[in-house]
Amino acid sequence: MYKPTLDYAQQQDKEDKLAHLRAQFHIPKDAKGNDWLYFTGNSLGLQPKQTQQYIQQELDDWAKYGVEGHFEARNPWMPYHEFLTNSMAKIVGAKPLEVVVMNTLTTNLHLLMVSFYQPTKTKYKIVIESDAFPSDRYAVQSQLKFHGFDTEEGLIEWKPREGEELLRIEDLEKIVDEQGDEIALLLIGGVNYYTGQYLDIKRIAEIGHAKNCMVGIDLAHGAGNISPKLHDSGVDFAAWCTYKYLNSGPGSLGGLFVHEKHAHNKDLPRFAGWWNHNKETRFNMRQPFDVMEGGEGWQLSNPPILSMAAIRASLDMFEEVGMEALRAKSEKLTGYFEYLINQIDTDRIKIITPSNPKERGCQLSIQVKNADKSLHKKLTENNIITDWREPDVIRCAPVPMYNSFEDVYRMVEILKTLL
Ligand SMILES: *Cc1c(COP(=O)(O)O)cnc(C)c1O
Repeated sequence: MYKPTLDYAQQQDKEDKLAHLRAQFHIPKDAKGNDWLYFTGNSLGLQPKQTQQYIQQELDDWAKYGVEGHFEARNPWMPYHEFLTNSMAKIVGAKPLEVVVMNTLTTNLHLLMVSFYQPTKTKYKIVIESDAFPSDRYAVQSQLKFHGFDTEEGLIEWKPREGEELLRIEDLEKIVDEQGDEIALLLIGGVNYYTGQYLDIKRIAEIGHAKNCMVGIDLAHGAGNISPKLHDSGVDFAAWCTYKYLNSGPGSLGGLFVHEKHAHNKDLPRFAGWWNHNKETRFNMRQPFDVMEGGEGWQLSNPPILSMAAIRASLDMFEEVGMEALRAKSEKLTGYFEYLINQIDTDRIKIITPSNPKERGCQLSIQVKNADKSLHKKLTENNIITDWREPDVIRCAPVPMYNSFEDVYRMVEILKTLL
């Protein structure tokens, strides 16, 4: 049904019910004022134009009210994080009780491991993907070390088979079947940052739980990209950031999920601060610690309102559009991208990402034989912003909120000439 012509791409944009969203973003431009072809929403999402007003509102209220803004601001700061909860819960398929926006991703992973990585002398190992994002690997290694275990011996890698790029769920099953008695935790990226593979989270939870292992999911490349059903999947916990597909600005706060089955367990070990103490009595200082239920029970500090204002600006857009419509466009847009790449008459190119739309988000990871970083440089010189991974992979994410069919068409035309 797809056609490899500019006319066709422009026609798709005309018929696209989400095409108007592009104008609601700042699209970076070159010196002559031409839009960049921006394919790195998987690394840093673009800025919604309304973000500035949302932040300005809080600056104005701070100027106007000082400390009274905690209650008097138009959007009172005291409960501000609660304004984000419902939209965020929808995006990841969770109940509002299970979700909170706080801290940053790696910090949240550590706080969650304080509660859900409870190693014993014999059951202490952690499983990650061999291609896990470095921060996740360092985080689990440091947890092993903190608990007095060897970081090599305690870490089990779920690897692709020889000559393959993608993970097979049967291989995880085998690892857990054979070594489950020694495994305390599986911490897996829901969408792999490198290959773009979207794993079956529910299956991972079942595999882990069959051997009494805790299961945590890193959704950095999932949130706002695919529609995970975190609650139904049964995973114990998850964490993600909001500056990738959730367009909330560099270093913005992360999201955290703790499954309802743990929400009321006040005996779970966890770190504490005044912000996970019961909000009813938080300001009657010197009360004994009384932890809150649900995701909020993992907060520590009063959060940065300016960062949350940016998240709110973005989540309001997601709320308006809905993940279902975004996902539908995303499958079509990435499908078109894949189709065009497969039309290129060369044996140098291989798409690593799964071809089944159910097993990927919007990102395609394209391996280019005999290429080096100069290809990435040439793409950039042609206004195409992509992400290069050594030795020879270009990661490219057409984002349904602001990328067009024409973007994808133009990108592949230029790639063709550079090959
Ligand atoms: C982007 C990303 C991170 C980054 O962690 P921060 O704590 O937000 O700096 C960590 N893990 C994964 C899988 C990521 O994709």
